[in-house]
Amino acid sequence: AVNRTPLIAGNWKMNLDHLQAVAFVQKLHWTLKEAKHEAGSVEVAVFPPFTDLRTVQTLLDADKIDFALGGQDLSAHDSGAYTGEISGQFLAKLDAKYVIIGHSERRQFHNETDEVVAAKTQAALRHGLAPVICVGETSEDLEKFGASAVPVGQLEVALEGVAADADIVVAYEPVWAIGSGQAATPDQAQEVCAKLRAVVADKLGADAAARTRVLYGGSVKSGNIAGFMREPDVDGALVGGASLVVDEFAAIVRFQK
Ligand code: PEP
Repeated sequence: AVNRTPLIAGNWKMNLDHLQAVAFVQKLHWTLKEAKHEAGSVEVAVFPPFTDLRTVQTLLDADKIDFALGGQDLSAHDSGAYTGEISGQFLAKLDAKYVIIGHSERRQFHNETDEVVAAKTQAALRHGLAPVICVGETSEDLEKFGASAVPVGQLEVALEGVAADADIVVAYEPVWAIGSGQAATPDQAQEVCAKLRAVVADKLGADAAARTRVLYGGSVKSGNIAGFMREPDVDGALVGGASLVVDEFAAIVRFQK
C-alpha cells in the first residue's frame, strides 16, 4: 500500500432507495466528520443503485462531501437498442468516477463471462470511468485449482488491450468469502493480491502496477480491516454488507485509528 491512497468502496448492491440513500450519505459524512476523519487520507467511494445516482450526486455536490461515486455495472455498448441497459456515458455525466465490473453476482446471476467483463472494461475506459474489475475463485475453484489461478486468468482477459496509462482498480473477491461471514485471512488476500499486481505489471507495465490499487473484498468488517490493510499489496477494500451500516462502514474507513 506504500504511496497508494487506500480506497474503501461500499457496494450497496440492491439496497437503499434514493431517499434512504440521502439519509445514509449524510449520516456517514457526519459520523466521519465528528470522528475528525482526515479527508484525503483514505478515498471513500459509494456504489448506489442506478436510480439513486442522481440524488446522491446532487447531495455530494451541494454539501461538498468528498466521497467518490460509482455505478455497480454498465453496458458494454455506448447507446442504442439495449433495453434496460445503462451506458457509461450516463454514469460519466453524473460525475461517477468508478464502475464495478464483473462482480461475482453479475458473473453468477447474469452469466457474465470474462469476455463480457473485458468489453465492459473497455466501455468504462472509453467514458473516462475507472473500472473496478472484480475477480475471484469459487470454493470449487479453490479446491480444484488453488486460490490464484482463476482470478489471475480472469484479470488477464479483462486487461487485454487496456492502455498502460489506464486508471483501473482491481478487486480480489473470493466468491466463498462474499456475504458468508468467512473472510480470507490477510495472508491469503496478500498472496493473491500480489499475483494480481504481477498481472497488471505483465499487461500494463511496472508503472501501472505500482500505481494501481488492488482491493480485497469478502466479509470485510471493522474488526478485520486493519489486518488486510497491513499487507503490502492490499490497498483497500470492496465492502458489501458492512457498507450499509453507517458506524461499521465509518470504522472501516478509519481503519488506521
Ligand atoms: C461484495 O459483494 O462485493 C462483498 C464484498 O460483500 P460482503 O462484504 O458482504 O462480503
